[in-house]
Amino acid sequence: MMGEGRYPHIFSPLDLGHTTLKNRILMGSMHTGLEEAPGGFERMAEYFSERARGGVGMIITGGIAPNPEGSGGAKLQTAEEAAQHRIITEAVHAVVPEVKICMQILHTGPLAWTENLVAPSPIRSRIGFFTPKELDEEGIEKQFADFANSTVRAREAGYDGVEIIGSAGYLLSCFLVEKTNQRTDRWGGSYENRMRFPIEVVRRCREAVGLDFLIIFRIAAMDMLQGGMSWEEVVTLAKRMEEVGVSIISSHFTWHESAVPTIATMVPRAAFASVTGRLRKEVNVPCITSNRINMPDVAEKVVAEGHADIVSMARPMLADAEFVQKTLEGREDEINTCIGCNQACLDHTFAAQEVSCLVNPRACHETELNYEPTDNPKRIAVVGAGPAGLAYSTIAAERGHKVTLYEAAEEIGGQFNLAKRIPGKEEFAETLRYFGRMIEVTGVDLQLNTRVTGEMLKNEGYDEIVVATGITPRRPVIEGIDHPKVISYVDAITGAKPVGKKVAIMGAGGIGFDVAELISHAGPSGALDIDTFAREWGIDFKNHPRGGVTGVQPQVAKADREITMLQRKTTPVGRGLGRTTGWTHRLTLRRRDVKMVNGVEYRKIDDQGLHMNIGGWPDILDVDTVIVCAGQEPFRDLYDKLQDSDANVTLIGGAYEASELDAKRAINQAAHSAAAV
Ligand code: FAD
Ligand code: NAP
Ligand code: SF4
Repeated sequence: MMGEGRYPHIFSPLDLGHTTLKNRILMGSMHTGLEEAPGGFERMAEYFSERARGGVGMIITGGIAPNPEGSGGAKLQTAEEAAQHRIITEAVHAVVPEVKICMQILHTGPLAWTENLVAPSPIRSRIGFFTPKELDEEGIEKQFADFANSTVRAREAGYDGVEIIGSAGYLLSCFLVEKTNQRTDRWGGSYENRMRFPIEVVRRCREAVGLDFLIIFRIAAMDMLQGGMSWEEVVTLAKRMEEVGVSIISSHFTWHESAVPTIATMVPRAAFASVTGRLRKEVNVPCITSNRINMPDVAEKVVAEGHADIVSMARPMLADAEFVQKTLEGREDEINTCIGCNQACLDHTFAAQEVSCLVNPRACHETELNYEPTDNPKRIAVVGAGPAGLAYSTIAAERGHKVTLYEAAEEIGGQFNLAKRIPGKEEFAETLRYFGRMIEVTGVDLQLNTRVTGEMLKNEGYDEIVVATGITPRRPVIEGIDHPKVISYVDAITGAKPVGKKVAIMGAGGIGFDVAELISHAGPSGALDIDTFAREWGIDFKNHPRGGVTGVQPQVAKADREITMLQRKTTPVGRGLGRTTGWTHRLTLRRRDVKMVNGVEYRKIDDQGLHMNIGGWPDILDVDTVIVCAGQEPFRDLYDKLQDSDANVTLIGGAYEASELDAKRAINQAAHSAAAV
């Protein structure tokens, strides 16, 4: 059955009065860094046009400030700036006239990257760069005028509407919450006063553009702040926004500074949709929900169950521009699913780098990285079906090359087969499902259970041999490293060797943390259900105390083990983890009483345990298992043996370079290499 039949709710049009959405699938706002990049508007035009061609009903751009104090980055204030935005809107409307594209107006308030930042009160955010200046009456009036002007300019630029962000710790939300609004004038104090600024912003914008222009208000439906907004306050604000003319209410969950993960991969799919569902019953305008909705069946269920009218997916549209079209054509198994890793998107945003996607390196690089059909088809052998070999083979085959992919194991995936066993990383299996299907679609000849030797390939007449044989775990040279209590991370993760009750983890990089997560985890394996997630992170979805979290103690289940993570560096343990997700791993393990020790010098391992010096002082860790997670080295045996081959031999992925390797780099390198062959 084709998509409309299988997903009747997400493929039904939505009447918005003066206009209609062709379906309920929204590409949510995501800052990409292209907003400020040279040639960024041309690149965004292509980036958004691909998603429009891919079938989304509506697109929201990344955040654009209404004035300089609103971000320190891109703004829309002048006719010249509006003309640049036209490059985007004309391109999108030219490829699919009925698609709607709205510009997000983002005033970052105390989170702005400028010294001229403003806020209701001069309070520096925990995650802000500077202390904001308190807005006076004149400054407040200026903000209203700038918001209204930006909305008018957005219409002039050809947008179908704007989304005004009133959440996340940005300017509007700071007026709503006492902790950031300590004013005693008519803009602070009572909730009625605290609501006045955001309501007036929306009222002025509506007044400036009339009724035939979409205004979406992004509300913090659950802000995840201790002492944050109560449910009554959320509902009151939503109703008042409706009164002043918003077309759609979009729920947002969390402020950037809150201590609850809301989009990381361990967050259950659609975990927050029910909150939107409750809000939707209180208002008469359509509601958008979001967060960890990454496959069509999840989106369909959310709308079918009445939780939302529209489903917003931002990262899934980075991962696959054709998400909607594939769904419509019954090709869901070809969707390249967002795995919620944040590694190439949000981690880049917070490092002021251009965004892309771990599973789709073309994202935001549509004008630079293209997989054009080849006019010179070659015979290519790819050895190793880890992420690098999989990406290379499927892209090269898609371009028309004849590719044989050899894999020593009985299944594709390489190290992703270990990653997907880590609690909270179950989504990694989706990437393997995607590549498995693309092998079939692109006609790659897959040879499993085949360990390639140099001799095997030499006389096969290949034009190209691509060595993607990955890595070998590092085995440090330490006395007693062969002791029976020492096991590798591979044995620990696969369960090939038992893990005792008192454990030392030698090495605290990404894999050390994953192993600690696995062996400290209690309860059933598999993705967390929403109730367990809520318990572990102290969220009360049912009673919705202030912020959803006030006064709720996280209840952490932990395995019956004493675990110590060790590293030689003296830097804080876990510092190298992802910017937007590392804190969740560190916090989870601390809550499970996992000890983290830095500045360690390993001496030997024997029946007594692990002997070491800590800060120069000898110590013995009485453990029954030492799990080695001490990094990796390139596995290049095959490459070395192919040096006299007639074929062109290329190294990619971990086999090329193991230091600081991750799947983002492996797939990106493979994609560029396959696009050029
Ligand atoms: P590999 O994945 O190592 O694949 C190499 C393949 O080559 C293997 O399947 C092997 O069997 C095959 N092979 C080797 N020799 C031969 C031969 N002679 N003939 C045939 N086949 C051969 N990265 C991230 O970016 N984010 C994460 O969250 C993340 N989590 C991880 C968690 C764990 C537990 C682990 C172990 C890794 C994790 N990684 C993560 C790292 C990521 O998986 C690697 O960077 C990536 O797999 C490297 O890809 P690759 O294709 O170069 O090598
Ligand atoms: P890693 O991040 O480089 O960490 C290796 C650890 O081993 C470090 O703690 C290092 O710390 C220690 N070490 C290095 N040489 C050692 C030696 N000779 N003896 C003892 N200890 C030694 O590598 P990894 O944990 O193996 O992960 C491999 C790759 O997979 C990483 O590059 C990572 O990006 C990726 N990965 C990513 C994630 C993610 O969530 N993004 C998760 C898992 C894996 P000291 O040198 O200070 O002791
Ligand atoms: Fe999703 Fe990771 Fe890609 Fe970001 S980088 S869009 S989280 S798969």
